Amino acid sequence: MITIDRNSQSPSSQNLWMNATVNGLNQTFKKYIRAASITAGVAALPIAFAFPANALQVQINPPSPRLGDTISVVVSLDNPASGNSVTVSRGNENYTAYEVAPNKYRAFIPTTPLEKAGGRTITVTGGGETKKIPVEVKPRTFKVQRINLPPGKAGVSATKLELQRASEFRAVRTPEKFWKGTFIKPSNARMTTPFGVRRYYNGVFAKDYYHRGLDFAGGTGSPVAAPAAGRVVLVGTVKEGFRVHGNVIGVDHGQGVASIFMHLSKILVKEGDMVQPGQKIGEIGSTGASTGPHLHWGLYVNGKSIDPIPWLNSTFE
Ligand SMILES: [Zn+2]
Repeated sequence: MITIDRNSQSPSSQNLWMNATVNGLNQTFKKYIRAASITAGVAALPIAFAFPANALQVQINPPSPRLGDTISVVVSLDNPASGNSVTVSRGNENYTAYEVAPNKYRAFIPTTPLEKAGGRTITVTGGGETKKIPVEVKPRTFKVQRINLPPGKAGVSATKLELQRASEFRAVRTPEKFWKGTFIKPSNARMTTPFGVRRYYNGVFAKDYYHRGLDFAGGTGSPVAAPAAGRVVLVGTVKEGFRVHGNVIGVDHGQGVASIFMHLSKILVKEGDMVQPGQKIGEIGSTGASTGPHLHWGLYVNGKSIDPIPWLNSTFE
């Protein structure tokens, strides 16, 4: 089935290509061109027709994202003969487009609470064509916490080792896609602190801080399950120097998507292990910089912590 919104078929509209990513578009679009040419006449022949027909189609999801969302950019090439390398970029950042089906590619662009809402331009190249897609990222209000620390009590700071290992974890990019379908919650415990909470420390806004994940208030020893399939790429312990993370597990779900689980009391996996969705990988604890037993689950896309909730409610292919 093909869905082309008739109302958005203005030649200048990038929406023309939205939702039109399945096989068979080629034929349909050729018919549309023919029909449009007849009704519009030669004088009104739209500029878009000057490009090689159907070389490149782009679908953006969600169509109107808000801060914290993962933007999925799906690119279909109908004419791969003119080159099948696809690039997706925004500003100076390039995002790897992985082939998810024959002649179909997908890149993820993370958005975070540290960014400004508003317009962005996503540049897509492929099939000998370049498209600039405007995307409007909606603002979002994140909860605010005010934390007052007595003078001289700045809290614990991370060790060099854990900073290093955490940065390596965020840098992992594996071409394979391990996850399949919707993610599941890693804990059945009550969700307490949501994603994106901002903080004031002693009245001063922490401009680089946001809560990079979800907290689950489970008791010590309650199970932590893998939310999706993946490979364990990080196991760190308090003993080794993971002073802030506590006992920690990092799971690579592939293609730039990765989960981190912090403050664990027990770790049941080792680096290199493959895990399956629902598999118990550890137990909730209060190790590291934690004020009480809870699981902190962070979900990262291309190195940035994004809101995991959409990954629990919908499927990212
Ligand atoms: Zn947390």
